[in-house]
Amino acid sequence: MRKKIIAGNWKMNKSVEETVELASAIKGDLGDCTEVDVVICPPFTALKAASDVISDSQIMLGAQNMSSEDEGAYTGEISHGMLKELFVRYVILGHSERRQYYKENDYWINRKVLKALEKNLRPILCVGETLEQREAGETEKVVEVQVREGLKGVEANACSEVVVAYEPVWAIGTGKTASAQQAQDVHAFIRGIVRDAFGPEAAGALRIQYGGSMKPANAAELLAQPDIDGGLIGGAALVADSFVEIVEAAMPRD
Ligand code: PEP
Repeated sequence: MRKKIIAGNWKMNKSVEETVELASAIKGDLGDCTEVDVVICPPFTALKAASDVISDSQIMLGAQNMSSEDEGAYTGEISHGMLKELFVRYVILGHSERRQYYKENDYWINRKVLKALEKNLRPILCVGETLEQREAGETEKVVEVQVREGLKGVEANACSEVVVAYEPVWAIGTGKTASAQQAQDVHAFIRGIVRDAFGPEAAGALRIQYGGSMKPANAAELLAQPDIDGGLIGGAALVADSFVEIVEAAMPRD
């Protein structure tokens, strides 16, 4: 059984003070949670503060991006070493906002994925189609390229360390969620690609999160789908109660 993973992508929100407040509230409810992997991804400037708050808990820290390089003349970039110094464990890579606004492409995203794995950070590789691509019937084609290119060169046995986040761009921050069936169909398709590229064991171990307006009201149905192994949460991760409710919806049922 794959352990579910719920990650909060705080994007460019929360000051240091607000981070301490939100991380403390989440820790208050989920600090001992071992049934679900709980990850918070504050902005770079608040990673240290969040790290200090959650250091004595089960909650893990993620970053929202990372350089593909080790160190040197890369103005504005943040390296794996800098993240690991703050006890970061996960790193979101290839988020659609980075693809769209900062023109990140599959080549560079793949370099970051490989660098993260080489340095024992767990990549959360984001993939997903735009509304135009969905309406043109191109969802599978787009997602397949992003998954194959993003994971190029990854060792099959490293797939258990990788998280793929399927985030239909039309559902991010719009309030429009993919239906549970729409999401499940794409998740199963992604697992099929990974099976084809890396074999059944790797495909069975890979965790695939859904992201796109996931909230307490729709989380349980999405998370009940056989190939949905968690959620990458934007807006609803900025409020402790709603984030906690989503994690509770991900708890295993007997
Ligand atoms: C995201 O950007 O990763 C995301 C899923 O955002 P939201 O939950 O706000 O749609």
